[in-house]
Amino acid sequence: MEYLFENVKENIYVLAIWDSKWNSYNNCYFIVQEDGITLIDSCKEEHSAYLVQALKQLGKTPDAITLVLATHGHEDHVQGTALFKNAKKFIHQQERSLIEYPKPDEFLFELSDRGVIQEFDYIWVGHHTPGSLAFYHKPSRVLFTGDFLCFFGDPLSKDGLVSAGNDLRHEWLEFLRNGGVVKDELNAFLQGLTAMNAFEVDVMCTGHGGVLVGDIESFISELLHAGKQLQEIHVDK
Ligand SMILES: [Zn+2]
Ligand SMILES: [Zn+2]
Repeated sequence: MEYLFENVKENIYVLAIWDSKWNSYNNCYFIVQEDGITLIDSCKEEHSAYLVQALKQLGKTPDAITLVLATHGHEDHVQGTALFKNAKKFIHQQERSLIEYPKPDEFLFELSDRGVIQEFDYIWVGHHTPGSLAFYHKPSRVLFTGDFLCFFGDPLSKDGLVSAGNDLRHEWLEFLRNGGVVKDELNAFLQGLTAMNAFEVDVMCTGHGGVLVGDIESFISELLHAGKQLQEIHVDK
């Protein structure tokens, strides 16, 4: 199995594991702080060895993970958390029914629609799953979007895993313009984008594949623009 482990910015690292069953990269993120490591998402149970390997590259063991933040309850975002016995694990209250492994009781369902947890702001983004959240790490201006906005099943950008990813941005815009976000979910999707654009973002870390650096605000604005055009078409009909 192929995996990439790269620095995103300052003390933040991405682990992107190639999942041949799903034909996609599955991502999780390590934020290394003096008093412990925060993990955003955790891949599947079968990927646990790669999480341990990534920690080893940082000179750490699974005990170093003290906080786990899950963007949502799908298996590829929560199962790996079973490794981390020292961590408090948080997820939105509406995600409980999605979690089969580990036991849902390992999680604290204390996140609501907007708030602050340690160095992170979080917002409910209302698309992909009922309780999907985006996390914003204020000190580094990095946004974690989970699967609300990701590159599931896409190859990496020709410029690399962590890059401006102009090819990926272009494809996402085309996907949206071609109805990739279904009509019933478009409003919620645009509201989530608008909420995200209130943050000053230097890096967009997604749930699958590409990690985007460079001008994120214009990417989000372009998506909003394209989405609003679609809404107008829906209204006209
Ligand atoms: Zn998902
Ligand atoms: Zn996913």
